[in-house]
Amino acid sequence: MSTSITDPHGDLLDDLCRDLRSNAGKWESVSHWPGESLKRCGDAGVFRWFVQKEQHGFGWSDREQIEGYLRLAEADLVTTFVITQYMGAIRRIAASENQYVAERWLDRLMNGELFATVGISHLTTSRRHLKDPVLKAVEDHEGYRLVGMSPWVTGGAHADLLVVGATLQDGRQVLVAVPGDSEGLRAQPGCELVALSASCTDQVFFDQVRVDRSMVLGGPTENVLSTGVGARPGGLQTSTLAVGLSMAAAKYLEGEAVARSDLAEPAATLRGEITSLRDRLLSASDGQMAVDASQIRAEANRLVLRSTQAALMAAKGAGFVQGHPAGRWCQQALFFLVWSCPQPISHAHLCELTNVTPSLDLG
Ligand SMILES: Cc1cc2nc3c(=O)[nH]c(=O)nc-3n(C[C@H](O)[C@H](O)[C@H](O)COP(=O)(O)OP(=O)(O)OC[C@H]3O[C@@H](n4cnc5c(N)ncnc54)[C@H](O)[C@@H]3O)c2cc1C
Repeated sequence: MSTSITDPHGDLLDDLCRDLRSNAGKWESVSHWPGESLKRCGDAGVFRWFVQKEQHGFGWSDREQIEGYLRLAEADLVTTFVITQYMGAIRRIAASENQYVAERWLDRLMNGELFATVGISHLTTSRRHLKDPVLKAVEDHEGYRLVGMSPWVTGGAHADLLVVGATLQDGRQVLVAVPGDSEGLRAQPGCELVALSASCTDQVFFDQVRVDRSMVLGGPTENVLSTGVGARPGGLQTSTLAVGLSMAAAKYLEGEAVARSDLAEPAATLRGEITSLRDRLLSASDGQMAVDASQIRAEANRLVLRSTQAALMAAKGAGFVQGHPAGRWCQQALFFLVWSCPQPISHAHLCELTNVTPSLDLG
C-alpha cells in the first residue's frame, strides 16, 4: 500500500504519474479496463482529493484539484477520464443531503474498494433534441421506477453504483443512486470508440428498475443538476484534461527538439501557450478574475488538437504506427470535440472548421 498523496506538489505525485504513464499504452480496447491503474490511484488516495475533510476526503481546493488532474491527464488520459466520471458520482453523493447513501457508500468508493459512475448527459448535452426523455422516472409508493436508457455511461458494466438522472412525466428531474446489480438494470460492456475505448463507455438500460426513496440524491425538481455544490456541469474539468494532454504532446516535442534544432522554436512556443492557458485555468479556479469558462474550453480544444498533431508531425511515420503515443494522443484529442461540449462552443468550432463567421464569438 503506497502512502497517500495529500498535496499536488510532492514526489509522491511524480511517482504515481510515472507508473500511470508506463501503463497508459495498455488501455486500448473495451477488454482493457484500466483497473490496475485505478487501484494504484485509489491506494495513493487520489479519490479523496475531491471530497471535503468533514467527509473524510483531503479537501483539496479547486486549484489543487486542477493541478492534480493536469498531472494525471498528462500521464494517462484514459484512467484520468474514468476518474472524472467516478468523481462525478462521488461528488454528487457527497454534495447531496442524503446521509443514508453517503454513510453506506462514500468511504468504500473513496478508498477504491467500489467503483461508481454517472449517467447524466441526457439531462445536459445528449439527446436534447428529442421530444421524449430517454430515461423516465415513474413515481410509486416506494420511490421511483426507472424506464429507458442512459446513452453514455463510462464503466457502467464495472460499476457497483450508478448515479443517474431521469425525467418525470411533468418534466421535473430526479438524481438517484442505483446499485449496479439492481434487477432490470443492464449495462452494456462498452463500445469501441475512436479513442478511450478502454473507458468501457456504453448505454445502460433500465427495465422498471426500482429505486427506493432512500436512494434519491436530488429532486424532483427542474434542472436537478444545477442543485448541489461541487457538482456543477460545464466547469473547468474538461478543459483541464485537454491542457493535460497538450502537456504530454509538448513534452514529447521538447524531447525531440534536443537533437533536432528545427523543432526548438515550435516546442518553446507551444510550451509558452500551454503555460499561459494553464495559468488562466488556475486563476479561474481561484476565482481571481472574471474568466469565461466557455472561452477557456474553446481555447483548450484548439490547443489540444494542434499540440497533439504537432507531436505527430515531429514523430513522422513512426508516430502513425499503432502503439506510438503521438498517434494515440491525436485520437484522444478528438474526444474533446464531443465530450460535454456545450452547444455554443461546438457551434463556434463548426463555424471555424467550415470558415463561417460564428454568430457568437468565443474567442
Ligand atoms: C467516450 C465518452 C464517454 C462519455 N462518458 C459519459 C459518462 O460517463 N456519463 C455521462 O453522463 N455522459 C458521458 N458522455 C456523454 C457526453 O458528455 C456527451 O453528452 C455526448 O458526447 C453527446 O453526444 P450525443 O451523440 O449523445 O449527442 P446528441 O445531441 O444526442 O447527438 C446524436 C445525434 O443526433 C443528431 N442530432 C443532434 N442534434 C440534433 C438536432 N438539434 N436536431 C436533429 N438531430 C440532431 C445527430 O445526428 C447526432 O449525431 C460520454 C461521451 C463519450 C464520447
